[in-house]
Parts: sequence; structure tokens; C-alpha cells
Amino acid sequence: MQEQMKTLEYDVLVVGAGIAGGESALNLANIGYKVLMVEKEPSIGGKMILLSKVFPTLDCAACITTPKVSEIARHPNITVFTDTETEKINKKGEHQFEAVILRKPRYVDVDACTGCQLCEEACPVSVTDEFQFGLVGRKAAYIPFSIASPRAAVIDIENCILCGACERACPPDCIDFTQTEEKFLVKIKSVVVATGFDLFDPLKIPRYGYGKFKNVITSMQMERELAPTRPFNTVLRPGDGKMPDNLAYVLCTGSRDKSVGNPICSQICCMYSIKQAQLLLGALPMADVTIYYLHIRAFGKGFNEFYAQAQDMGVTFIKGKVGTITEKENGNLILRYEDIEAGVVKEAEHDMVVLSVGVLPHQGISEKFENQKLKLDPFHFIDQSDILASPAKTSIEGVFVAGTASGPMDIPDSILSGGSASAQTTSYLRKEEL
Ligand SMILES: Cc1cc2nc3c(=O)[nH]c(=O)nc-3n(C[C@H](O)[C@H](O)[C@H](O)COP(=O)(O)OP(=O)(O)OC[C@H]3O[C@@H](n4cnc5c(N)ncnc54)[C@H](O)[C@@H]3O)c2cc1C
Ligand code: SF4
Ligand code: SF4
Repeated sequence: MQEQMKTLEYDVLVVGAGIAGGESALNLANIGYKVLMVEKEPSIGGKMILLSKVFPTLDCAACITTPKVSEIARHPNITVFTDTETEKINKKGEHQFEAVILRKPRYVDVDACTGCQLCEEACPVSVTDEFQFGLVGRKAAYIPFSIASPRAAVIDIENCILCGACERACPPDCIDFTQTEEKFLVKIKSVVVATGFDLFDPLKIPRYGYGKFKNVITSMQMERELAPTRPFNTVLRPGDGKMPDNLAYVLCTGSRDKSVGNPICSQICCMYSIKQAQLLLGALPMADVTIYYLHIRAFGKGFNEFYAQAQDMGVTFIKGKVGTITEKENGNLILRYEDIEAGVVKEAEHDMVVLSVGVLPHQGISEKFENQKLKLDPFHFIDQSDILASPAKTSIEGVFVAGTASGPMDIPDSILSGGSASAQTTSYLRKEEL
């Protein structure tokens, strides 16, 4: 029997609600196009909404993201579907696309939820919090994070024991276990792919001890420790809750490394590590911070000055390739590294190590295009078919790419790329109108 699907019609489908997709959606909506934005996570904002401050200005990331996110959420020309996956996209003709999208149940009436968190308090189940990158736990009934949009609870049904405590605690009675998946057929004239990037999994480099030594963390975990919405009230070693006083950064973890399948530079790790080092010196004034690097790539506007500022503040930079990390009984870590300038192997002790993990392509979206091929580049990012003249163009006419879906880039470049995708989408749509 043919599955019943509700049909929706919009001008543009934006897949992915990070800063790049958000920029494209806002520009298109301000011109007057009707935009459907789908996001697989329960909140919009992508990675940026979870960051501490941004290089090279040290502006608060949330202060830049939250006004944009609330403009997106309230814009009359933008409809946002969170918890939504794209199942397939087909080109039916010029300016004609059809997508099938699947909205997963949240088991909460989002419009009625006040975000009071009483369900969270009542829920007896604790699991690892993915939005704090495993540093703390969350409940099975939870608000993703304090500045999430929508700021509404989600029931994690896989871990829920159906005890009903959240239902009993909820004042507006908005928890609804009868919700089911909804499938929609979406007719659009154009598509913007803004599916972002994934982070390198440091478990793939076992000699660094991530997952085994608790005081070896990733840069995204440190980002959460430094953010205003941080899990602890200060920077702590996860192993014993001690405030660290001698931290090390290992740059290029999973970047420029053929042995782990990622030969390219991630473009952001040098700068976000230098940023975090500066923030750490502010948060822990007595701490020492050492950055082990192969090359510092401070290529953007104000970046080299930002690097020099870190040196002036007392951050130590060692041109060194870290071979192994081992743990001492007290939880401190021994880094064995090649001092590249001296040409000798050395060892150094630190009480916390941050792995500056690289940027990988977020895969899966190209397979959703069924009747035309969304080409990928040799590194599995979305191929820009005319990178110099029309950087948002892809191999399918009418499908545009925004942000890190096309390769590693920082926030200003992701916003520029989102702007470029919206401009090229507009000119594609205008062709039909004229
Ligand atoms: C530790 C760290 C620190 C950083 N610090 C800085 C900094 O200080 N300054 C700076 O300029 N940059 C910084 N960056 C880089 C910055 O995070 C990125 O430039 C920016 O987030 C890219 O935005 P984006 O929208 O392209 O991707 P993302 O933020 O990855 O957003 C993509 C969105 O698409 C969604 N999505 C993916 N697939 C689908 C799908 N199939 N259907 C629906 N939705 C989907 C994802 O869930 C996500 O919400 C940092 C990055 C890291 C890792
Ligand atoms: S029903 Fe599920 S989500 Fe609600 S309190 Fe019980 S375990 Fe938690
Ligand atoms: S679901 Fe109910 S109890 Fe939970 S945050 Fe929303 S309003 Fe509060």
C-alpha cells in the first residue's frame, strides 16, 4: 500500500541548520522566498552554538549565534523542522525538486513546553550528554542545552524506561508518548546543502590514549569547558576534578596525516587551539600552556597578530611531533615527541592534554540524491563544480553548497559561503521568474 505523506511546498530546502545554512536561509527569507530548513539534531545552531569564544576577536560565540538563531526561528518565511532526516531528493525538472523528509517524534509538544526542566529533575535515567561531548551526564528527558532552539524537552526513547515520572512532573502536560514518525513529500525549486563537518575520532590514534587516559580530552571538550554554558564552573581535569596547571595541545590530531586517511589541513585547529590557550590563561592565571605543532597556519585576517599575542601572553610553542602519550599513576601524562628544530626525541610531563582534532567531511547527503549525482571531491567533501567563479555551485544545477560541507573553513568563511549559496540560489530562482 502506498504510504500516506503530507505534501509541503516551499521555494528552497536548506539541509543543515548550522551557521552556514542559517545564513543562507535568512538571506533567502529576507528576499521573500519561502524556506524549509531541516536539521537532524533537536536544536538549530550547529557546532558554533556550542563554542566558547571565537578567534581572532575573542567575541562570545553564543552572543553572535543566538540572535541569528532566534531570527531564524521567528522569521515568517522560514519553517524549521528539527529532529528531521532527509531520506531522498530527486530532480524532477528545471526548478523542480522533490524531497522526502522524516521527522522523528520528540515525545514532547514543543509549542506547549515551557522549558521548565521539571521532567529532567524527575527522570531517574542518566546517560552520557552528547552536547557536553561526554564530560557529564544528562537525563533521558532533557533539554539539549540551555541556549538550544527550540528550548524544549526531548525524550530519548532509546534509554527511556517508560516510568512516567516526567509525565507526572510536567506542569503543562505536554509529554506525549503517542507521537509517531511523520514523513513529508516536499516540493521545492532549489536546494542548499549545508550539512557541515564531522570531527576526527581520536580513538583512531590509540598511541595518544584518548578514551583510556581520562585527562586526555579533545578540543571540542575543552571548548565546552570554556563556554558560558559549560558543564563545570571552571576548567577541570575529568580524571579527578583537579584544576590543571600545565596543559598541552597536540595540533594536527587526525589532520595532514595519510596514515589515518586524512591528508589535508583542517584550517581551524591552529587558531582554535591558540584561542583556547589564551582563554585558559585567563581562566587559570597560574597555568602553563604548551602547544606542540608542525606548522602554525595563521593565514587569515588578524590571525598572525593573534598568534603573536598568545606568545606575548606566555604560551609556549614547540615545533614537535608527538609520538606517544603515556599516563603516570597520579593521572599526569608523559608526551614523547620529536623536537623538530633540535632534531632529538624528548619527553615532557603535563597534567592535561588536549587533542586538536581535525575536520572530516560529514558523509551521507550525496547518497540521498537519487536520480542525479551530487559529486564529491577527492576528500569526500561536496565538490564545488566552479570553485573560482561560482563557489556554491555543485554538480547538480539548482543544488548549492554552503559552509564546511564543501571543505574545512572557519566561521567568517562559513558565513561568506552561506551568503554566496543564497546569492547563487537567488539568481537560479530569478531565471525562472524572468
Ligand atoms: C573545537 C572547535 C573550535 C572552533 N572555534 C572556532 C573559532 O573560534 N572561530 C571560528 O571562526 N571557527 C571555529 N570553529 C569552526 C566552526 O565550528 C565552523 O567553521 C562552523 O561551525 C561551520 O559551520 P557549518 O554550518 O558549515 O557546519 P556545522 O556547524 O557542522 O553545521 C551543520 C549542521 O548540519 C546538520 N546536518 C548534518 N547533516 C544533516 C542532514 N543530513 N540533515 C539535516 N541536518 C544535517 C548538523 O547537525 C549541523 O547542525 C571551531 C571548530 C571546532 C571543532
Ligand atoms: S518516562 Fe522515560 S523520560 Fe520520562 S522520567 Fe521515565 S525514564 Fe525518564
Ligand atoms: S516537557 Fe514539561 S516538564 Fe519538561 S521542560 Fe517541557 S514543560 Fe517542563
